[in-house]
Amino acid sequence: MKAFILGALISVPAFANLHLAPPDFETIQGRAVFVDFKAATYDITYDLRKRQTQVKSRITFEATSGGRPLFDLIPGPQNALLNGRPVGIREIAAPDGALLRQVDEAVAPGTHTLELTNSFSENVRYSFLSRGVSSAFWIRDLKYRKFLEQYVPSNLEFDQYPVTMNVTFAGVSEARQDIYTNGTLTRTSPNQYQITFPSFYTASAHYFHTTPKGRKKRLDFIYRSIGGRDIPVTVYTSWWSRPGKFKQEALKIFAELEADYGPWAHDSFIAYETLPGTGGMEHAGATQTSFGALDHEMLHSYFAKGIFPANGNAGWIDEAIASWRDYGYQRKPLPGYGGSDLGLGSPYQRNTDSRAYALGREFLAYLDYRLQDAGGLKAFLRGYFQTYKHTLITQEHFKNNLEFFSGLDLTEDFRTYIWGENRDIPSRSAPSPHHRGFTRAELLELL
Ligand SMILES: [Zn+2]
Repeated sequence: MKAFILGALISVPAFANLHLAPPDFETIQGRAVFVDFKAATYDITYDLRKRQTQVKSRITFEATSGGRPLFDLIPGPQNALLNGRPVGIREIAAPDGALLRQVDEAVAPGTHTLELTNSFSENVRYSFLSRGVSSAFWIRDLKYRKFLEQYVPSNLEFDQYPVTMNVTFAGVSEARQDIYTNGTLTRTSPNQYQITFPSFYTASAHYFHTTPKGRKKRLDFIYRSIGGRDIPVTVYTSWWSRPGKFKQEALKIFAELEADYGPWAHDSFIAYETLPGTGGMEHAGATQTSFGALDHEMLHSYFAKGIFPANGNAGWIDEAIASWRDYGYQRKPLPGYGGSDLGLGSPYQRNTDSRAYALGREFLAYLDYRLQDAGGLKAFLRGYFQTYKHTLITQEHFKNNLEFFSGLDLTEDFRTYIWGENRDIPSRSAPSPHHRGFTRAELLELL
C-alpha cells in the first residue's frame, strides 16, 4: 500500500486538471487555449406546444494563459456573450483535424464567463398524442464527439466541474414527466426541475433521461453497501421486460464488485434496460444497458466512471479491465499478440480505440502474470481504485502506479504492447458486444 501513498503525494489537487488538457495550439486567428470550467448551468426548455428544445448556458471558466478559449458543442451556438459582451463562436480543427469550438476573442489569464444558447434534437422525441417529451443525454465512448457536447456546451474529458441543469417543460401548467438521473433532482415548480451533479463528473458522466409519466416500469430499492451505507437504486425497463429480474442481477453484481474492489463510489445507482443483445453504455453510477451487459457496465462505475480516463488514449484501460473481468480474469505468461499502438493516438483524441477489449484484455492477463508475486493485478486494481476514485488518470499514471506497486519496470512492455508499432494485429477488431452501438431508429425506440 506504500506505493499508493507515494502516488497520492505526488498527485495534484483534485479537479485542477488543466495540466491534463491536450496541448494548446496556433490557428490563423491566434493562439487557441484549453480552459478550466469552474461551473456550468444549463437552462433547458422543452416547449411541448412548439416541440422545440432550447438551452441557455452560463459557464464560468478560468484561463491560465492568454488566448482564444476552446470548448465543444456540436449544435450551432447562438447569442454568445463573453463577460457580458457579444462574441463570435467558430468551429475549428485541432492539429489532428478533430473539431472543437473556439471563442473568437482572446482572454487574459483569469476568470471569465461565457453565455450562449443552442437547440438540440439528438435523442429527443416529442409525443404527438400527449403533451410530453422523451429525451436522453446518452453518450458513446467508441465514437467521435459523442459526449455531453451533443446537447450542451461542455469541456473535454480532462475537466471536472459542477453542473446545474434547470429543466422546464413549457406549454403546460403542470409537467407530467418522469426524470431518471444520477444527479440530485428537485422539483422547483409544477413544470420545472433542478438537477445538480457532483463536481467530480466529466463530460461523459451525467445521466439524464426524461419520459412522459408512466412510460417505463420502475422499481426503487435500497442496497446496503459493504461500508454500511444505504445506496438508493432505481431500475427501469420498457413494457416488454420486468424490472424485478434486473434488480436481482444488480444485487448479485454489487456483491461481487464490492468484494473485489471496495464500496460503491456513487451516491446512487440507476439502470435502464435496453433491447436484448445490444450491450450498453456506462455513466457514473448509472447505465443504459441490455440485461447481459449489466455486469460489464456496473464494473465501469469503478473503472471509467469511478476513476475516469483523462483522454481518449487512456480509454483503453477501463475497457481492458471490464473485458478482463468478462473473460474470467485470465492470467497469461504472454499476451496473445506481438505488439500494438493501442494507446498511441492523437492527444486530441476523445474516443476509445475499439481494439481496447481484445488487446487490452490480453495485456492485462499478461500484467497479472507479471504482478503475481505482488498479489496479482486485481490486488493492484483494488488499491488503485480506492486511492484515485473520483479523479482522472492517464496511461502514464496507470503505468507508474503499476510499477510502484510491483517494483517492476514495465517500460518495455508498454512500449511493445501499447505504444509500439501495430504488428501482428488485424488493424481494427470488431467492437465489443458490450458496446455494440445503436442505429438512430433503435435510439429513438429506446426513448
Ligand atoms: Zn465497456
